[in-house]
Amino acid sequence: MKPAKFEYFAPTSLAEALELLHEHGDDAKVLAGGQSLMPMINMRLARPKVVADINRIPDLDYISPTPDGGLAIGALTRQRSVEKSTDVKARIPVLAAAMPSIGHFQIRNRGTVGGSISHADPSAELPALCFALDGEFVLSSASNQRVLKPVDFFISHLTTALEPGELLTEIRLPARALAPSEEWRWGFQEVCRRQGDFAMVGAVSLLKLDGGGICQSACITMFGVAGTPVRIRRAEEALLGSRVNGSVLQDVSRIVSEELDPDSDIHASSAYRKEIGGVIARRTLEAAIDRRNGDETA
Ligand SMILES: Cc1cc2nc3c(=O)[nH]c(=O)nc-3n(C[C@H](O)[C@H](O)[C@H](O)COP(=O)(O)OP(=O)(O)OC[C@H]3O[C@@H](n4cnc5c(N)ncnc54)[C@H](O)[C@@H]3O)c2cc1C
Repeated sequence: MKPAKFEYFAPTSLAEALELLHEHGDDAKVLAGGQSLMPMINMRLARPKVVADINRIPDLDYISPTPDGGLAIGALTRQRSVEKSTDVKARIPVLAAAMPSIGHFQIRNRGTVGGSISHADPSAELPALCFALDGEFVLSSASNQRVLKPVDFFISHLTTALEPGELLTEIRLPARALAPSEEWRWGFQEVCRRQGDFAMVGAVSLLKLDGGGICQSACITMFGVAGTPVRIRRAEEALLGSRVNGSVLQDVSRIVSEELDPDSDIHASSAYRKEIGGVIARRTLEAAIDRRNGDETA
């Protein structure tokens, strides 16, 4: 199909882009990697009057280590750059390990970090990782800048707190889930029909154990099971203070299945998502306990 008519602008600075978005408000759509927007425009699921192509803005494409050991990532950074970054691998290895699960490399060559987060597909990996890592999103407009946590940013399926005139400019990720020798351990896993498909169910687990293997802190985030990524607090509480062994993990797996209330769709039934959600949550925790056995790219 052909898209409906729109006016095309290609600002070359952030200030110019924000002015353009301010001027056109709700009528404007930002074009980043175009991997989600262009199919939607071509199928006329989106009919913006104005398309603001941000690809010529140089200062939105960066991966910068922060003094606290985390990373600041410009919204226009390509997904493939994150996948290849040695800083990402060293500082937030769970992010590096999850990147190859996003579509195919041709999509990651164009798709941006900010585009995936702004698009807010509930089955997408990057929103879930930012949620799990307790990141921050910097939203800029011509007159203001605000910083939101993922829990306040993601509202529901393809819906975020971005206001007309706002651009997501930076993603900040703190130093959690560090390399295996550090106290935070991690696991990532998803189930999809074919390599590169969106996840039917996915899990990101972060685990902090003391020297005796007792759980000090846990974060279990599931995606593809609700309108936004969700943390399974009851399962996290079941881990706290326990030695994480087989029977604790069985309990956690059961609790995760009980807590999930996913919809059925053409890809999978609700019952399947509940069942498999418990299984992969357990597997991500097993991987976290012994990173050497962790399935880093599944
Ligand atoms: C075949 C195929 C398979 C895919 N598989 C997966 C997958 O498995 N997992 C996955 O997560 N994704 C998948 N994707 C989507 C891909 O990751 C996209 O790159 C991503 O969803 C959107 O990023 P983009 O940079 O292309 O954004 P665009 O398509 O350019 O924009 C997407 C939306 O976000 C808005 N937007 C973009 N950037 C900003 C910004 N900085 N501030 C405010 N709004 C902004 C746009 O206006 C638009 O509404 C797949 C895509 C395809 C085509």
